[in-house]
Amino acid sequence: MGLTGIQIFKLLPKTNCKECGYPTCLAFAMNLASGKAELASCPYVSDEAKEQLAEASAPPIRPVAIGAGVRAFKIGGETVMFRHEKTFYSPTGIAAVVSSDMDAKALDKKLKEWNALQYERVGLNLRPELVALKDANGNSSAFAAAAKKIAAESEFNLILMSDNIDSMKAAVGETGFKKPLLYAATQENADDMGNLAKENGLPLAIKAGTLEDLIALSDKLTGMGLKDLVLDSGSREPKKVFEDQVVIRRAPLRAGNRSLGFPTITFPCEMASNLDVETMLASMLIAKYAGIVVLSDFRGDSLFPLLLERLNIFTDPQRPMTVTQGIYEIGEPGKDSPVLITTNFSLTYFIVSGEIEGSRIPSWLLIMDTEGLSVMTAWAAGKFSGDAVGMFVKKCGIADKIAHKKIIIPGYAASISGEMEEELPDWEIMIGPRDASLIPKFLKEMAT
Ligand code: SF4
Repeated sequence: MGLTGIQIFKLLPKTNCKECGYPTCLAFAMNLASGKAELASCPYVSDEAKEQLAEASAPPIRPVAIGAGVRAFKIGGETVMFRHEKTFYSPTGIAAVVSSDMDAKALDKKLKEWNALQYERVGLNLRPELVALKDANGNSSAFAAAAKKIAAESEFNLILMSDNIDSMKAAVGETGFKKPLLYAATQENADDMGNLAKENGLPLAIKAGTLEDLIALSDKLTGMGLKDLVLDSGSREPKKVFEDQVVIRRAPLRAGNRSLGFPTITFPCEMASNLDVETMLASMLIAKYAGIVVLSDFRGDSLFPLLLERLNIFTDPQRPMTVTQGIYEIGEPGKDSPVLITTNFSLTYFIVSGEIEGSRIPSWLLIMDTEGLSVMTAWAAGKFSGDAVGMFVKKCGIADKIAHKKIIIPGYAASISGEMEEELPDWEIMIGPRDASLIPKFLKEMAT
């Protein structure tokens, strides 16, 4: 369990030098205890205290980094049972399986199809991270060759799935640079798999039939010096898998059980006979509390909802999702195109930009930073006032892009038009519709 602020304070130099950015060592200790400060901010902690504090301030569920390159990611590091208590930090990794006996052409085709499944949302690129390569028949050279192809020719990171230590060694030799997750150490092969993972500095999944066996295996491998473990409770029955996920999350957070203080891997692909049911199970497991879900395939209609669900669950509930302030071109607007303005709450942006796009009238959309508040809320909070909006219009540079001086403000913010006219005396302030769905009609009428 973590130390209290007072226990941490006892290990600090107590000079109150303020170099950490806090007025006193006690304030720093309190913030460190609640996870708001970093130990590295104090340059004067002794090595001995550092060791004790690092251990105590480590997240109860160890963060485990998997992969390299643009799709590298981290799982674990969670500190709460429920998102509203603070936030969830590490989005669930999403994987699909291929078999090592797939011929090279078919594998190429699959990787290309899967690579195309990328979606832009809220300025983010949403995409899956992993391919799980299953050793089909213990043919170590075929397994290593397929692993090499995936690692070298695609952005995907790898889960290497084999019980055969020779296959695993061969594949690690080809793909170690991509930091694959090795799946899995069991009671039977724990020494070999543990040594391979340790020698190559790779994360290792461990699998057991019961939680008691999983704890024993985890203790054995951490005893061997392994730190980056990923847990598979072994069950493939949905209700049991769900219960296991909750127990594994709860044990380190509520009972200080470090043996289960690791992220998990789950296999919807082994729990259902079709991708639709797999997707439903994956959706449950993304919410509670899988580190990785492995599907049998990636298909746009199942992957996209999972990516969106993941995006929503792994955003900080205390920070609204925003888009960057600036001028957005919708279509190919020119000097005579209409100019609209709204706030940077991402939902507002997507609804408004979607309606403008639907109107097929190329337009300029000005997005003003209102700290992620919607139009009405921002207006009520004084962040979308006439003078602030007017100042933003002046400074954003839109005047250099257009040959007119007309701007459309949201209907719900009609009351700011007077102040805007004062701030922008040579502009015509037009009141747009209250309901975004009426934007296309409004723009078409303007155009005629
Ligand atoms: Fe105390 Fe270290 Fe902060 Fe100085 S930098 S006030 S010694 S915690």
